[in-house]
Amino acid sequence: MQLKFMTRRELLRTLSAAGLGSAFATRAIADAGTGGKVKELTPMAPNGRALYPARLVNGKVIQPERLLPIFAETDVLVVGGGPAGFAAAVAAARAGAKTTLMERYGYFGGLWSGGIVLVVISTHAKENGEKIKVMRGIGDELCERLTKIDGAIINQVPGKHNPTTDPEATKFMMDEMIAEAGVNVVLHSWATDVVMEGNAVRGVVFESKSGRQALLAKVVVDATGDGDIFAAGGAAFEQRLHAIGLVHRMGNVDRAELDKLKTAGFKSLGSLEPLSSVRWVNLRGPSTDGLDVKELSRLEMEHRRSIWKRIQTLRNTPGGEKLFLLQTAPQLGVRTTRLLTGVTQLTAADAKAGKKCADVVGVGGAQGANHVGWPIPYGALVPQKLDGLIAAGRCIACDTKWVEDMRLIAACLITGHAAGAAAAVAVQSQCQPRNVDVAKVQELLRKQGAFLG
Ligand SMILES: Cc1cc2nc3c(=O)[nH]c(=O)nc-3n(C[C@H](O)[C@H](O)[C@H](O)COP(=O)(O)OP(=O)(O)OC[C@H]3O[C@@H](n4cnc5c(N)ncnc54)[C@H](O)[C@@H]3O)c2cc1C
Repeated sequence: MQLKFMTRRELLRTLSAAGLGSAFATRAIADAGTGGKVKELTPMAPNGRALYPARLVNGKVIQPERLLPIFAETDVLVVGGGPAGFAAAVAAARAGAKTTLMERYGYFGGLWSGGIVLVVISTHAKENGEKIKVMRGIGDELCERLTKIDGAIINQVPGKHNPTTDPEATKFMMDEMIAEAGVNVVLHSWATDVVMEGNAVRGVVFESKSGRQALLAKVVVDATGDGDIFAAGGAAFEQRLHAIGLVHRMGNVDRAELDKLKTAGFKSLGSLEPLSSVRWVNLRGPSTDGLDVKELSRLEMEHRRSIWKRIQTLRNTPGGEKLFLLQTAPQLGVRTTRLLTGVTQLTAADAKAGKKCADVVGVGGAQGANHVGWPIPYGALVPQKLDGLIAAGRCIACDTKWVEDMRLIAACLITGHAAGAAAAVAVQSQCQPRNVDVAKVQELLRKQGAFLG
């Protein structure tokens, strides 16, 4: 490849054909802003930060009272950018609320994209013998938009349920939809506490490389998956131990000799992805406490070691020589920790019976699209006593028997959409989330394409 006499446009075209375009294009655009000269290592005034170190006094660590800079004020603050938080932020912003989405990592999608659990289960249910799509609105829009990108999604076609998406395409499309909706984004920021005013959550305290700051909001959506925000605000909750795994992806699967591997005892190489050469491999793991940092640290390393060994074994098995470990998930697979004690509790008995509720804000689907949908009451997203907050995703109020259905990605997209819409209505109506006119929330959700039965 002779690059010397090419214009930049020709160079980008050539690199793009070689599959290298976008990284170089980004670099080229960044360089263009400085007239082609990259000013690296330029001295700048150091980012000063107020010093409030904790003190060791008589063997006890004491943190002094301190003034926190207010980073921003917003109408709706969504904490956690997984499936639930993504849908909540887009819904609230589209409804006209000034919306901010905070995420501790550098990308959106939570366990879906970062935990590499790529199949969106429970998109459909069975009603009157017919398979119907219950995951409509923002979650379905994301999947539909992925169909326009080659290699981004499979099974998002009429007649099929539970589509599987590519993790990078999912992140890309979430970025697109979040930006289009005008959501303010705060990445690399970990919410560590709440700001309270009376009984209401009025924002969060968060940590980032910029130090500890506060972000104020009229309504906060807790989409952290673990209920970090409602727990910090003093809401009642229950806690569960659950299996914690680590997903990995394997490459060159299309070059493996499956018959030989089966003979050697390997029954499955994992689940299909849009890329035919790649499979994602689920791992259940031991049932333990997903809020215990010692356990999280132990499991990261133990799981990674066992995955590495498994791949080496496969590579040493006839038929598996070309397989390789493409990636272990950047996010450990924590399934369930805190469950909100809500105004209403979702129960397996009600869900299995498809029990209708007047405050329905979404309908969950069936894992195999083989039984009725389950109406989701708004009360399952609202804490029994704490104000200023709505929960969404895998930490909403639900009995143990229904957790396995409630925490699936499709259901989290649905409850996220509902929480975002309700937050926007609460802001517009200048009332607490528990006092919103649910009819207005339902009207908004229908307008935004959601299915309420
Ligand atoms: C191993 C495993 C396999 C699974 N397999 C499937 C499957 O095949 N199909 C399926 O449909 N579902 C599956 N699930 C379930 C599903 O992935 C999750 O339940 C779902 O992603 C939950 O969505 P969520 O938005 O509620 O939470 P999460 O996806 O956990 O997202 C929460 C987000 O909040 C962020 N966050 C957390 N705390 C803070 C904080 N304090 N401050 C700032 N940000 C914070 C996190 O970084 C994350 O991005 C699986 C789960 C696991 C663990």
